[in-house]
Amino acid sequence: MRQTRTKTIQEELVVCDRCRREMGPDAKDFELQERTAIRFRAGYGSVFGDGNLVEADICQHCLQEVFGKYLRITEDDGFDPQHKFSDEASRAYQEYQLQQVLATENFLRNFREAVQAKQQKD
Ligand SMILES: [Zn+2]
Repeated sequence: MRQTRTKTIQEELVVCDRCRREMGPDAKDFELQERTAIRFRAGYGSVFGDGNLVEADICQHCLQEVFGKYLRITEDDGFDPQHKFSDEASRAYQEYQLQQVLATENFLRNFREAVQAKQQKD
């Protein structure tokens, strides 16, 4: 006997803060992977206010539309990069880069805490 059933799935989406485009985890949809996440705490003297948290999720289309004429795009091979970033600017990431940065920061924080705990114990 054949029957049908309705499945409800819940998935996390990221919504572009400018155009409201939904960027989902669907593997065929590259929008989520290509979004730019901005997450930083403003420093002393920042136009955003000292210590304030600044965040945005911007789809690739809005990034191109708003900043396209200011972006320097260098042809390169992602699997065999020949070009490096011109400096250590590091406050805007695409999602896959952000996860790596957050994991690294988390690792370093835990490592520092473990070292401090070991030093206090000795
Ligand atoms: Zn957008």
